Amino acid sequence: MVENHELRKAGLKVTLPRVKILQMLANDDDRHMSAEDVYKALMEAGEDVGLATVYRVLTQFESAGLVVRHNFDGGHAVFELADGEHHDHMVCVDTGEVIEFFDPEIERRQEQIVREHGYELVDHNLVLYVKKRDI
Ligand SMILES: [Zn+2]
Repeated sequence: MVENHELRKAGLKVTLPRVKILQMLANDDDRHMSAEDVYKALMEAGEDVGLATVYRVLTQFESAGLVVRHNFDGGHAVFELADGEHHDHMVCVDTGEVIEFFDPEIERRQEQIVREHGYELVDHNLVLYVKKRDI
């Protein structure tokens, strides 16, 4: 099982709650889930994992580098699997929906602006707060 391998690779013991939570983060077509989202999805799937366990496991995953935590404004912390590809986010202020995007031009300009200030870019985290346009 992929999940078991991922857990061991991250130095975590394979336990049922860890496997289930990792599956939720991997399977859901919503890649960005709060602890409450994960908890609800587990309940709907008939899995008996408490909210406190979900919080604890997500924190362990974060420490182990398996997931990334985002603290977007005006919402709960949201978790996503750390699968390497850099991207930025938009967050809908009405629904809390998280949309991923990547724009080479924005990436290039950020590098350039940082250099113009005499620095070197180490990391960045760009979040656009958006709302659906009425059409
Ligand atoms: Zn993302």
